[in-house]
Amino acid sequence: MDPPQPSKKSKWQYLRCTPRSTLFELNNESQRSHVLLHAVSKWAKGEAAPTNLAKGRGINVNSHFDSGNIEVVDISQAQARGVSHELNLRIHADPYCESDDVSHFMWFYFRVTGAKGEELHINITNAGEGSFPVAWPGYQTCATYDRKFWFRVPTTYDKDTGVLSWKHTPAHDAVRYAYFAPYPYEQHQTLIADCQSKPGVTLEMLGQTLDGHDLDLLRIGDADDKDKKKIWVIARQHPGESMAEWFMDGMLKRLLDHHDPVSRKLLQQAVFYVVPNMNPDGTWRGHLRTNAAGANLNREWDTPTLEHSPEVYYVRNHMDLVGCDFLADIHGDEEIEYNFLAGNEGIPAWDDRLKGLQDEFCQAFLHTSPDFQMGNGYGVDPPGQANLAICSSAVGQRYNCLAFTLEMPFKDVHYAREPVQGWSPERSVRFGAAILNAILAVVPDLR
Ligand SMILES: [Zn+2]
Repeated sequence: MDPPQPSKKSKWQYLRCTPRSTLFELNNESQRSHVLLHAVSKWAKGEAAPTNLAKGRGINVNSHFDSGNIEVVDISQAQARGVSHELNLRIHADPYCESDDVSHFMWFYFRVTGAKGEELHINITNAGEGSFPVAWPGYQTCATYDRKFWFRVPTTYDKDTGVLSWKHTPAHDAVRYAYFAPYPYEQHQTLIADCQSKPGVTLEMLGQTLDGHDLDLLRIGDADDKDKKKIWVIARQHPGESMAEWFMDGMLKRLLDHHDPVSRKLLQQAVFYVVPNMNPDGTWRGHLRTNAAGANLNREWDTPTLEHSPEVYYVRNHMDLVGCDFLADIHGDEEIEYNFLAGNEGIPAWDDRLKGLQDEFCQAFLHTSPDFQMGNGYGVDPPGQANLAICSSAVGQRYNCLAFTLEMPFKDVHYAREPVQGWSPERSVRFGAAILNAILAVVPDLR
């Protein structure tokens, strides 16, 4: 989501994490210290690690895993069957974000155990203080037992108290709840490993993040052929928008299917530069919107720095090196119940050529995927008023190319609701695959 930020929040002091690799070098004597440091590094933000594990028999809550985020306030253990267990929880905030003057949060992901057949009454007590409280009404929590199939749980939001609540009686001992079906860092590693072994794919590690994660780029196609158009697709500058990496999963797997005629034709005309996850630190930490230093990466494209936003610094430098004829930046929107494109009408370089390309792309996408629509989304920037710190605006202006932000819903597509799952990993994957038809339509005209 990229509209202006709402209210100001209390500032969090941020102490930059020691890179995890250093911690392990210093403390590799025992597995126990390894595990302890693993936990510390996730929460080393100048504050005590949250009490997010309620121990003992009965109902337990835990989020100490990849992409996890929750804090336990208290849990009332029901003493008799038929009585609800009341779980009061809080979402842990991202580090303070200077550009947005806020400590973002809305992303949550945690596991409840000891819950089979027990009625849980779960309250997120600080939901109303989150980044986009206007987005909570109508939201339904995502849940899973097997970490594969995610379904929705009826959820309510009380505007007066700012509490998000749901009641659920799990069918199994362990259940996971999340803001959206996660695409954790380990899953990202699997995606990279799967793709890099396919013909025509080169993996380039662009640099390391502040937490010491690798920033991966997949190059697909013949980069030596200078006539080929340079297609860039990046995702997850905002790590809590996990549907964006499900989208990339679908796009990449179709692009690497050499039986697919659209992919074959595309790769005859273009080279793809794909960054499936721009923010591995935020993904691993369970952030909504920022990297390890609290940077909103989608506000860093005018002056990225190695100290604050190395992810953008590395990708922008690589774009300068190889060129860019097309950019799609993939996101999720907390509030709006549509898939939509945010265009570049406000950049100084906007002209009839760029307008023609954007219109041509949108028309092709409309024909390709009924999940895409126009007419509902963000307002159009007035001429010359675009924020050039935002990725798609910066890239469109810098390379005078077709560039846009693509948003998917956290809730569902308003006119095509799916009652069990809402907008889902499965639909994000297919939406990602469908974008290739629309790219194919514009490729000949990109330069
Ligand atoms: Zn976003």
